[in-house]
Amino acid sequence: MIIRSIWKHMLVFLLLALFFSWNTRPVNAVINNNGSGFCWQSGAAWPSNSVSYKIDPTIPASWTTNINTSATTWTNIGSSSFTLSNNSSSANVISKGSLANPSHIALASIYASPTTINKVLVVFDQTDSFTTILPASPESHWITEIMTHEFGHWFNLRDNYSSMCRSVTMYGTFESGESYRASLTSYDINGAAWQYP
Ligand SMILES: [Zn+2]
Repeated sequence: MIIRSIWKHMLVFLLLALFFSWNTRPVNAVINNNGSGFCWQSGAAWPSNSVSYKIDPTIPASWTTNINTSATTWTNIGSSSFTLSNNSSSANVISKGSLANPSHIALASIYASPTTINKVLVVFDQTDSFTTILPASPESHWITEIMTHEFGHWFNLRDNYSSMCRSVTMYGTFESGESYRASLTSYDINGAAWQYP
């Protein structure tokens, strides 16, 4: 009977559709490590494309919005599956404290086996001047810009010191008063998308 035959085909189609939608869920997402391209270089990678961070009580509460904004900038990259989320029980901690090298504004420490990251810690230098608002004074660093750079290290994108790459977020030095590197360039995005497609 023709009606029954159509239903039979519909059922097969639905089962196939279910199978393929289940099969393509990003359970085992592709994650790469140790890549490089124009104005970016990467190292080890997290075993998952979803990573959390904790904001330590040493960080002023007024900084929270800036830090979360920086995380969202990276999470929102359409070509990368990697997400950063604020979680008070995370072992990946952002804090404020003293840094051994006085020229450091903030420092990201990446704990990794040769290819897999276990933990990242970020410390803002307590002797530097930071601001939550724009325009940043000529003496202060805008937290959103600094943290966007530091979150780049969570992707294990490396500092870049090539003069051709001065405008990328992952360029290694910062002037006080600047803010434009809170926005990612296509080169930062290329690195993130390669590491966590
Ligand atoms: Zn850096």
